[in-house]
Amino acid sequence: MSASKVLSGARVVLPTGTVEGGRVIIEGTRIAGAASENAETLDLTGHWIVPGFVDMHVHGGGGASFTSGTPEEILRGVQTHREHGTTTIVASTVTGEMDFLAERAGLLSEIVEQGDLAGVHFEGPFISPCQKGAHSEALLRDPDPADVRKLMDAARGTAKMFTLATEMRGGLDSVRMLAENGVIAAIGHTDATYEQTVEAIEAGATVATHLFNAMPPLHHRNPGPIAALLEDDRITVELINDGTHLHPASLELAYRAAGSSRVAFITDAMDAAGFGDGTYQLGPMEVEVKDGVARLVEGGSIAGSTLTLDTAFKRAVTIDRLPVEDVVRSISANPARLLGVDDRVGSLEPGKDADLVVLDAEFTLVGVMRKGEWVVDPK
Ligand SMILES: [Zn+2]
Repeated sequence: MSASKVLSGARVVLPTGTVEGGRVIIEGTRIAGAASENAETLDLTGHWIVPGFVDMHVHGGGGASFTSGTPEEILRGVQTHREHGTTTIVASTVTGEMDFLAERAGLLSEIVEQGDLAGVHFEGPFISPCQKGAHSEALLRDPDPADVRKLMDAARGTAKMFTLATEMRGGLDSVRMLAENGVIAAIGHTDATYEQTVEAIEAGATVATHLFNAMPPLHHRNPGPIAALLEDDRITVELINDGTHLHPASLELAYRAAGSSRVAFITDAMDAAGFGDGTYQLGPMEVEVKDGVARLVEGGSIAGSTLTLDTAFKRAVTIDRLPVEDVVRSISANPARLLGVDDRVGSLEPGKDADLVVLDAEFTLVGVMRKGEWVVDPK
């Protein structure tokens, strides 16, 4: 008996480029350098094998919310995204009461410790009322470093990222505090000027939360955060490639300006992802999902997406016409590096977890493997 598997015949996207008719060898939970005898071989000729996707900004899926769901519901949401190729997932919360968020951080940290989540991202409450999106205005507050630290501590070492309106009182101090603690300070839901954004980057911010969305637009005399975030090599920009949040031309503009190494494709998905239209709760807010587009019942603001990363991948290659290798970098390697988990995931290399996605010639997902086990069997 051997837990050895060999996937052969596919186009395999490695960090060094694409290998035609390549082989991926799996021993137990990991990618191996050489196959043992009696390895079970699966012919995947005509397919692509790419690394499992890494989503660093997602609020739920499969009808479940990471902000309010039970542990069982959270795992259902995780499983839904896994079935769509996301083998590494960070749970994002939305704005709530401080005590409530601290309690949720504790619960989510347990799921991180058991290996089903890669960390916690707090989106709100430290965001601008001017760019609140689908966050509850009454619960927003300044990013006071003591409050930010309270949530960071509640996550017991599993907090990976905070989205902050860094121009608000305490914003820069919070950025410095997070950077010192190895937690990503992401600029987002912000009303900052260009100059204020530059200051936040100097203070240590390294990510732009869904660039373009929930921030002032690019204006030629008042370039705002977008220009500052695109021009600085220290910043990785999150992009939601669902065709609703960003016009393809805006996505292409950002992608060219930042380059594939500085883009992270995210879903920003809410409960309805992989589940269907209907009425949902996003934190305290009611959301109506119609034709896959999530909007607040009150005010009509876009309220997250129903995107899954397999769709984002396919759009990037077939609609945005980006090279497959670039998309792989932006959907797996870059977020893995930012999250500090690139020693285990984010690329197909011997020694890393056997997390991979099998796509057909039209870039439709047909298989998902996580830690050597098929989540979606391509046979
Ligand atoms: Zn979000």
